[in-house]
Amino acid sequence: MRILISNDDGIHAYGLDPLAEALAPLGEVWIVAPEREQSTQSHALTLHKPLRVRERDARRFAVSGTPADCVYMAVLHLMPEPPGLVVSGINRGGNLGNDVLYSGTVAAAMEACLFGLPAIAASLEVDWRVRARDHHWDTAASIVASLARDVLAHGLPRRTLLNLNVPDVPASQLKGIRATRMGIRHYENEVTERLDQRGQPYFWIGGTHVEFEAIAGTDGPAVEAGYASVTPLQADLTHPGALERLRDWETLRGPGAP
Ligand code: MN
Repeated sequence: MRILISNDDGIHAYGLDPLAEALAPLGEVWIVAPEREQSTQSHALTLHKPLRVRERDARRFAVSGTPADCVYMAVLHLMPEPPGLVVSGINRGGNLGNDVLYSGTVAAAMEACLFGLPAIAASLEVDWRVRARDHHWDTAASIVASLARDVLAHGLPRRTLLNLNVPDVPASQLKGIRATRMGIRHYENEVTERLDQRGQPYFWIGGTHVEFEAIAGTDGPAVEAGYASVTPLQADLTHPGALERLRDWETLRGPGAP
C-alpha cells in the first residue's frame, strides 16, 4: 500500500520526517508538500497560474502551490495509483475549533476525502516560544501511526477525515486520547497599522490565542487538559436542524416554492 503525506508548513518543515518514519512500516511513503509555507491557505487551489513540481528525492516532491494542490497533483498525476491513505502534517500549531476552517493541514486531508480516500490531519499544539526542532514530534507521530492502523482496519465514513491534535509533551506525559467535537477558539482579533519608509500605511492582521470556549467534549479543552484529541470532520457542512427550520420561512413558502 502507498501512503501520501502532505502538509501546509512546507517541504522543509520539521514535522514531515517524523511522520514519514512512523508511517513507513505501514506502506510505501510518498511525500508531496508545498515548496514554501502555506499555513492558513485553507482549501485554495491554484487555477490562475502554472504549478511547478520539483522532485527532491525518490517519492519526495515539492510543489509551488497550496496543500490542496499537492494532494490533487499527487493523486491525479505524480503517484502511479491513488494512495490507500493520506496523512497531512504534522503541523506546527494546533488546528482546534475554528482553526479548522483556515487550516491548510486540514484542507489537504479534506482534498483526499473529496477523492474518496481515507485521510488524517495531524497537528501539534505548541508554545510558539519553543523552537520547532525542540517539539515532541514523535509523540504525535506514534499516535498517527496507531490511528492509521485503525483507519485501515475499520474504515471511515465517506467524505470524512480524522483531525488529530496532540499536546507538545513527551509521550509518557500524555494523559490519554479523547474523541471530541470541533469546538470554538478565540483569538485576539487585531489589525496592527504601521507606516512604511514612504509614510504609507500597511497592516498586519491576526492575533494570538486567547482561549478555548469551555464546551464539554470539544477539541481545544481536551488538548489544554493534556489529552490528544481526535475529531471526525465531514465535507458536508449542512446544518440539519437549520435546514428543517428554513422550510417554514416565508421566502421558502412563497409562490414557486415546492
Ligand atoms: Mn501550518
